[in-house]
Amino acid sequence: MFDRKHNCLVVVGAQWGDEGKGKLVDVLAESADLVVRYQGGANAGHTVVVGDRQFVLHQIPSGILHPQAICIVGNGVVLDPETFFAECDQLEAQGIAVAGRLFVSDRAHVVLPFHQLLDQASEKQQQIGTTGRGIGPAYEDKIGRRGVRVADLIRGTGARDLLVTRIERANALLAMLGATVRADLAEHLELAERLGARLRPLATDTGLLVHRAVRDGRRVLLEGAQGALLDIDHGTYPFVTSSSTTAGGAAIGAGIGPTAIDGVLGVVKAYTTRVGNGPLPTEVGGELEGRLRALGHEFGATTGRPRRCGWFDATVVRYSVRVNGLTGLAVTKLDVLDTFAEIPVGVSYQLDGDDCHEFPSDVELLERVQPVYEVLPGWECSLAGARRLADLPAQARAYLDRLQDLAGAPIRYVSVGTRRDQIIEV
Ligand code: GDP
Repeated sequence: MFDRKHNCLVVVGAQWGDEGKGKLVDVLAESADLVVRYQGGANAGHTVVVGDRQFVLHQIPSGILHPQAICIVGNGVVLDPETFFAECDQLEAQGIAVAGRLFVSDRAHVVLPFHQLLDQASEKQQQIGTTGRGIGPAYEDKIGRRGVRVADLIRGTGARDLLVTRIERANALLAMLGATVRADLAEHLELAERLGARLRPLATDTGLLVHRAVRDGRRVLLEGAQGALLDIDHGTYPFVTSSSTTAGGAAIGAGIGPTAIDGVLGVVKAYTTRVGNGPLPTEVGGELEGRLRALGHEFGATTGRPRRCGWFDATVVRYSVRVNGLTGLAVTKLDVLDTFAEIPVGVSYQLDGDDCHEFPSDVELLERVQPVYEVLPGWECSLAGARRLADLPAQARAYLDRLQDLAGAPIRYVSVGTRRDQIIEV
């Protein structure tokens, strides 16, 4: 069911992540030739349900579940090699062939145990709500020009000298942060050698593979992780992730020019969730939030943390349409709202008594905005069996129409359940 209008399509989360990108990418990857992860690390957990099996993929593109798709971990990703190989082994054990279909950019930076120690130590001070998997420190090292890349690991002896200075620096930082643990050089050297040997056959200039595929008119899917509101530039800074989660990041992180991309699909939940700290204007609170969380199974795929839940926030999605240049929307989890008699939608904000239609840059302002709600009637029946728009009750269609009008981008897909077939193409 590849988006027929596009040859090189980016799929991004248009809220705070966990929108169900994994399922969308899985559905679209059925007829994709190449599926590329272009940013983030093992903090992103995509959940894909195939038949009675559930796959949670942190590092490997969800396209791997389709045998014809070549999958790529692009240069913009920070690769956690241990997680990556554990996922490879698990997929192989479940009968999904990985060999010869999975490539890793030799320009990608790697996350090593010392990054995780630094992450956990600084989280104690900063309280951003990170997953503690070392993603932030690995990106810091990349920007600070002291990162360790796949190219270093596969060079054989190359990583040794690098690691000596990195571990020294990490231990000085750990001491400064008041941590009692220290990174162990011998352990890192042994790890680097083992991982290097395993990465060698998979590592290549993946940008070239993507470029050739686009040039030859093959179908390329660029799979985003997290969501636009967690973007390092455009998100609710500092409660953000360390990479560019918006569509612009896809070109950089996949190693192609922006003109190669011809469509951007934004995945949005029919309501809103967020993990960790930071503003969430339409947060529901109380028992109702608990109900939404239970119905939507809103617990992190990676961490198991309960997600904060709110009503659909049109100001957020309108902003996301703008900063991502969204050409279409995929609305997921509409079925989660099946039992609500009334469904509030946040149409705009009020800030200190004034109308506020644009998403504020400053989190202090965002903490103070009051959402303006419009209450729409619920449909109070199950949408699980709907496969066409015409199968939806009038209230559900009216809800979608209102979301589309408020967001300012056309809805292309509607998801009504976890399974692959529970999708409506609009
Ligand atoms: P991602 O990181 O954006 O892929 O999102 P996650 O995988 O963390 O969360 C999406 C969760 O919602 C997964 O458990 C999916 O199986 C589930 N999901 C996706 N689409 C739907 C849907 O339309 N309805 C319901 N009920 N669950 C869905």
